[in-house]
Amino acid sequence: MRENNIMVVLSSPSGVGKTTITKKIQQKYNRFKISVSHTTRKPRPNEVNGVDYHFVSEKEFQDLISDNKFYEYAKIYNHYYGTSKDSVENLIKKNDIIFDIDWQGTKQLSKIKNLNLIKIFLLPPNKSELKSRLIKRGQGVDIDRRLKAFEIDEKHWQDYDYILINENLEKCYNQVEKIIQLNKIKLEQSNKL
Ligand code: 5GP
Repeated sequence: MRENNIMVVLSSPSGVGKTTITKKIQQKYNRFKISVSHTTRKPRPNEVNGVDYHFVSEKEFQDLISDNKFYEYAKIYNHYYGTSKDSVENLIKKNDIIFDIDWQGTKQLSKIKNLNLIKIFLLPPNKSELKSRLIKRGQGVDIDRRLKAFEIDEKHWQDYDYILINENLEKCYNQVEKIIQLNKIKLEQSNKL
């Protein structure tokens, strides 16, 4: 790994703005790449294989687990999601990486040494705000399940370095950006010593 490259984990319940913030960071900073995970869930309309996810069968995913190909993986909403070692090891040589993964994956990454990991957890202002954002996004049948998942997710905020409440997307994005800049400077300074 290049010593000054960082890995930023952004976790949040669905509907808190994580995807928008992740994409904005990548658009503004060329050096940032988004880690493309493997998943066994089916692609949604507009999702592209190899861009949003590597969509694989359950059998392919299990084979990757057996071959020890994942840095981390988890079962979420009955589907598997995982970050492959290959994709991370290629990217981190020249880039900073941003991960959109859940608390289970974050716990696993935390155990790996020397990763320059920054863990950020985004929360909605409250549960009813989350519910109305999910309804606006039109995820229909998923809403109850996602609200239940939120109750589980929010128990894990202690595992993160920073907790941000997303009342306003622009403000929240600016906070994420500042956290990244600060940690980048800290790392560069400490590597100079
Ligand atoms: P979705 O199916 O809505 O794209 O993602 C569902 C959840 O899976 C999100 O909370 C997302 O952060 C998480 N997720 C996506 N990729 C990975 C991964 O590689 N590992 C883990 N642990 N979680 C992931």
